[in-house]
Amino acid sequence: MLEINNLHARVGETDILKGLDLTVNAGEVHAVMGPNGSGKSTLSKILAGSEDYTVTEGRVRLLGQDLLDMSPEQRAAAGVFLGFQYPVEIPGVSNMVFLKSALNAQRKTRGEPELEAGDFLAWVRHRVKQMKMDPAMLSRGVNEGFSGGEKKRNEILQMLVLEPRLMVLDETDSGLDIDALKIVAEGINALRSPERATLLVTHYQRLLDYVQPDKVHVLSGGRIIKSGGPELAHELEEKGYGWLSEQRAA
Ligand code: ADP
Ligand code: MG
Ligand code: MG
Repeated sequence: MLEINNLHARVGETDILKGLDLTVNAGEVHAVMGPNGSGKSTLSKILAGSEDYTVTEGRVRLLGQDLLDMSPEQRAAAGVFLGFQYPVEIPGVSNMVFLKSALNAQRKTRGEPELEAGDFLAWVRHRVKQMKMDPAMLSRGVNEGFSGGEKKRNEILQMLVLEPRLMVLDETDSGLDIDALKIVAEGINALRSPERATLLVTHYQRLLDYVQPDKVHVLSGGRIIKSGGPELAHELEEKGYGWLSEQRAA
């Protein structure tokens, strides 16, 4: 589903990604872990089409399509969803209006008709219920005055409404209490399907207790330096990252 080959990217004069390879098959959830500053957020933002970064080498394909050739809007329509480390507030634009325009923009780019108002409402209400959210939040401004946990829950609601093919969640578990963490995990698990793939950027094992990854990767210095199964996340929790660079140097 997602195939990244030899990806090199820089911001200004600084090389950040230095030959990153990663393949995620349909239906799989991969966790990306790694020290601060290793390039995890850079990778996430490049997948979504951020213009802050220049890709200097390599290839990224989603379902065989060249992602790097596509605009951020085309990527969203192709099913790329990026969850932010710090979700943005859009005061004055209600959640309902935001979700409707995001969904319809994607449908339009795909050449599909807009959803009828009644169908849209039923769909959003179903998802709000699933996320155990207060329906009143639909009329509030996007993330306006939301607590950290509410913002994360809202982000997963956006994801459930949009039903992406590739979900990229960058530290979506940071700052969550255990109840919010479980709800976020339920949302991610609800979208687990053979038609979708997920990249979960996280620092902690605890999210992976609720969302079982198929594979775990360590990103360090702009490359994947180690990959393994779920047990690798436990090993990292126990030993940190230092032993990996020592292993590489040996
Ligand atoms: P991570 O998410 O793994 O903590 P990032 O991808 O955020 O790492 O950052 C990787 C490196 O790139 C860091 O050294 C960071 O300072 C640098 N970097 C990222 N974005 C920018 C930017 N817009 N301008 C300058 N440096 C950046
Ligand atoms: Mg960081
Ligand atoms: Mg980051």
